[in-house]
Amino acid sequence: MSCSKPIQHFTHVHPLTKVDGDIEFICDGCNTYGFGETYRCVSCNYDLHEHCATCPPTHLSFMHPQHELRRVFREPDEGLKDRRLCDICYESVEGLYYHCVPCGFDVHPLCTQLPQYVRYVPHPAHALELSPSGASNTCQVCRNTIQSWRYKCGQCRLDVHIECVTSASAGRPSKRRRMLNLLKAVSVGVVCNLIAGPVGEFLK
Ligand SMILES: [Zn+2]
Ligand SMILES: [Zn+2]
Ligand SMILES: [Zn+2]
Ligand SMILES: [Zn+2]
Ligand SMILES: [Zn+2]
Ligand SMILES: [Zn+2]
Repeated sequence: MSCSKPIQHFTHVHPLTKVDGDIEFICDGCNTYGFGETYRCVSCNYDLHEHCATCPPTHLSFMHPQHELRRVFREPDEGLKDRRLCDICYESVEGLYYHCVPCGFDVHPLCTQLPQYVRYVPHPAHALELSPSGASNTCQVCRNTIQSWRYKCGQCRLDVHIECVTSASAGRPSKRRRMLNLLKAVSVGVVCNLIAGPVGEFLK
């Protein structure tokens, strides 16, 4: 484990220290699973994903190009009355997330980090694009229906769940597994290993 200079984050009263651990945690910002690097308050057992600890107050994304998204932090107890879902992965958003006021568009901080295009080894001919609607609505990997955004090849009518793009196993993974796979998909290092990386050169 290595430590660096503590940061003060608006979601917590005490300073948080970056820890490179091998531990799994629940992020106290976005309330989803995390693994590895965390910004942590040891005395409170408080953890933030590295991205949740450092993500900016506003964000402009290809996922919602018409408006700039605002970072919001809503206490989890309010969340029960008005449960909101991430428009990208369809898991609930609680605590820290990005919101578009006029559209009611919501997205997890981590989901904003998903690459728009990925190269997917089992389908080398074309890049898959992160899209709100697809061709088949059936995941090529786990064979279940897809309601959320997905990686698709429109030309070949092929759709893959975001979380299945980094997994080869059939069967719908558990929520925990889905969130951890999603985390894998946003971490470029792992994406490079498993699916040869966000496209870049490949598209040109
Ligand atoms: Zn988080
Ligand atoms: Zn604390
Ligand atoms: Zn999400
Ligand atoms: Zn909007
Ligand atoms: Zn799937
Ligand atoms: Zn294709």
